[in-house]
Amino acid sequence: MVERLARHVGELAVLTDLDGTLAAIRPRPEDVTIVDGAREALTALARRAALVAVVSGRGIDDLIRIVAVPEIAYAGNHGMEFRRPGRDPAPDPDAARHRPALERFASRFRGAFDDHDIEVEDKGVTLSLHYRRSGDRERAARFLTGAVARAARDDGLVPTPGRMILEIRPPVKLDKGTAARALVAESGARRALFMGDDHTDLDASRALRAMCEEGLLDEAVSIGVDGDEVPREVVEEADLVVDGPDGALQVLRDLGQARGRRGTPDP
Ligand SMILES: [Mg+2]
Repeated sequence: MVERLARHVGELAVLTDLDGTLAAIRPRPEDVTIVDGAREALTALARRAALVAVVSGRGIDDLIRIVAVPEIAYAGNHGMEFRRPGRDPAPDPDAARHRPALERFASRFRGAFDDHDIEVEDKGVTLSLHYRRSGDRERAARFLTGAVARAARDDGLVPTPGRMILEIRPPVKLDKGTAARALVAESGARRALFMGDDHTDLDASRALRAMCEEGLLDEAVSIGVDGDEVPREVVEEADLVVDGPDGALQVLRDLGQARGRRGTPDP
């Protein structure tokens, strides 16, 4: 499957998640680093593919700091922020309008988050509430999915669970799927692949599949990156399953090194 895509690399959009996909999960999200060799593989692929993009739940600045490849596109905060190559990062204007509501919500729960060892990551247009480091994860998870999620909904915000995380998002219909669709459409690619390891990545895979059904793409491939705590749907819905970030890196290398029919060879 990867070989076939590699033969068409010049018309291929390559989109990938970061955490758990091109970077091993760490207890502290700020300690995460991209897997060795991935920067080189992304850079090489950017010279040949129609699009290379990292699509992540992280804030855009954090995402660019960790990946640090200037030649590729980025969508941060689940499609609420973008950075195209050679351009400044820009938040989605609809998402930015809900910033004051998010600030009010965060200040209301500040003490309770401390009591539960819940780490608050302010990503500008969204909040990430991490409980991976909580002394009592079950209690923290119950608190987040109960009282906190209810309060967020009452405030018109959207609580969204992930891996050891509850994200509080503004009520705008943006996700990794809308991000993937926008980036792929403007790239002119006829084929696309998405690699990911979590629920939110399925939005992207499904969006690309929908683009196929609408005739906007000739082929869409979903690659599931397996590992600890990876939801089974990620594996079940994937066209191809690879093992951890090393498996994902190998896919990038295979795509970047093959002689594409319309791609240009590396100098
Ligand atoms: Mg991930």
